[in-house]
Amino acid sequence: MKLPIRQSRLHIRKTRPKYIVIHQTTCQYPAPDAKIDSPKFQVPALIGNVLEKKQADINYHFIIDKIKDDYQIITCKPFVTICEFPDISNDINDAAFHVAVMGSYDFKIPEIRLYEILAYRLLNPLLKAFHIIPTRIYLHYEVSDNKEETCPGSFFNKGKMISMIKRFIITK
Ligand SMILES: [Zn+2]
Repeated sequence: MKLPIRQSRLHIRKTRPKYIVIHQTTCQYPAPDAKIDSPKFQVPALIGNVLEKKQADINYHFIIDKIKDDYQIITCKPFVTICEFPDISNDINDAAFHVAVMGSYDFKIPEIRLYEILAYRLLNPLLKAFHIIPTRIYLHYEVSDNKEETCPGSFFNKGKMISMIKRFIITK
């Protein structure tokens, strides 16, 4: 199953990116084949949910998915466009990159390697290229109007993520 490319339905961002919001993919896509991250490439499992919701594209800019033995960063929605989250205020959402970890971390503890790849290949380069300060990285539930929101999962540890960001900081 392939998603049609409907660029005209995407909203181009007009604000300089200042925030990064971290999610788990089950916050929008409950596809059973992608509920727990596995060595399979699972992004295609989300496509049925994207079509059901009549979204113009996968509603995250990037997903980190474990494929065979290691984690890989996958680009989903073009990052010059805005992801649509009705529970996140426009001030933050219109200036955010949305990054999702595959699966649900309400059930599983993220591996250290997930935090390493996330920081090294994606978060640190975004911080550096767009001059974003690490205190502007939020977990979805921290910026949600919905008090019940747990995304990116109760086992996702922000402290570990921040320590990996410090470890792979790009100074030059
Ligand atoms: Zn989320």
